[in-house]
Amino acid sequence: MCIFAPMKTNVNLQPYNSFGFNAIAKYFAEINEIQQLEELIISDVFKNEKHLILSGGNNILFQSEFFDGLVIHINTKGIKILKEDENEVVVRAQAGEDWPDFVRFTIEKGWFGLENLAHIPGKVGAAPVQNIGAYGMELKDSFLQCEAIHLETGEKRVFKKEECAFGYRNSIFKNELKGQYVITSLDFLLQKQAELKLEYGNIKAYLSEHGIKNPTLLQLHDAICAIRDAKLPDVKQIGNAGSFFKNPVIEKVQFEALQKAYPNIPHYDGPNSKVKVPAGWLIEQAGWKGWRNEHVGVYDKQALVLVHYGDGTGHDIVELAQRIQASVEAKFGIRISPEVNFV
Ligand SMILES: Cc1cc2nc3c(=O)[nH]c(=O)nc-3n(C[C@H](O)[C@H](O)[C@H](O)COP(=O)(O)OP(=O)(O)OC[C@H]3O[C@@H](n4cnc5c(N)ncnc54)[C@H](O)[C@@H]3O)c2cc1C
Repeated sequence: MCIFAPMKTNVNLQPYNSFGFNAIAKYFAEINEIQQLEELIISDVFKNEKHLILSGGNNILFQSEFFDGLVIHINTKGIKILKEDENEVVVRAQAGEDWPDFVRFTIEKGWFGLENLAHIPGKVGAAPVQNIGAYGMELKDSFLQCEAIHLETGEKRVFKKEECAFGYRNSIFKNELKGQYVITSLDFLLQKQAELKLEYGNIKAYLSEHGIKNPTLLQLHDAICAIRDAKLPDVKQIGNAGSFFKNPVIEKVQFEALQKAYPNIPHYDGPNSKVKVPAGWLIEQAGWKGWRNEHVGVYDKQALVLVHYGDGTGHDIVELAQRIQASVEAKFGIRISPEVNFV
């Protein structure tokens, strides 16, 4: 039976991107069943137009007001337990499931592994693309495998964790295979008993302020949601895409030289004996925190977040990001690069 994806033309993507920029898509197809995707990729529109995979649009910057191609919006639903014993569970979620709702579902079941990733906006299928992370946890820590469909050949493929080249806000899907595969489902291995990770950010301070000594999974989940709400702008009020830049990882010698000039420079251990420096601190030191014009700016509570106050365009954010990059580089000799996907 054919269940064609309803194809629309000239669709404004404003409700589909968390910056809230206007961008008209020439074609827009919503995928509610995998079969619709299989049919879409043999259609003439698909063959003749460039395409963009769009899930929740929380990590995308539309640079222009027209997307001259086909937007494939993934909205498939379903959560299924594949295996369970007294210690662990393997659970599968379809790509279009809402990530925060899925995390909440696992918490309510009493499963450990995704709790520190609570409240990260987006859909399940986009989570491996940049190996989402927060509060000392990354998607890869409990990711088993994902299933994906190749957009040119229609081939279905399973990617095991080792094949995904996960790194800091990075994966094979953001590099070599960018735009080539639609991730259709993810399998997670979650634990029924585990230590909670409380050392990151201000989790401990929050719990102690609220008189919570030995938090339950649910209390930790709720604490992280509250901390995030206090720190990050609500996309329904102020357009943004979370952290706009990645934290740069620099050589130890460069860091030591910087530390002489800035003894209080915050830092963390990076991979291969390198040092990770918070991009938000660099941007703040370069004087950008709270900067704004009529349309866009740098969030006053967190300099890593670029915001859209209304009636701006993606180009305004691009210009601002370039000015920030130039001034951080001039002051510290460090080139910061965007985490957000430019379209
Ligand atoms: C307020 C706020 C806070 C945030 N906090 C964090 C945070 O703490 N940690 C963090 O890591 N991120 C954070 N983010 C970024 C964002 O939430 C994540 O990157 C999230 O995974 C994006 O999901 P999405 O569904 O919105 O993806 P989209 O923005 O729609 O897509 C992101 C990228 O993935 C591709 N893609 C999407 N779906 C698929 C698919 N099914 N198959 C293949 N490719 C696909 C898209 O083409 C695009 O390149 C934050 C964003 C906001 C707005």
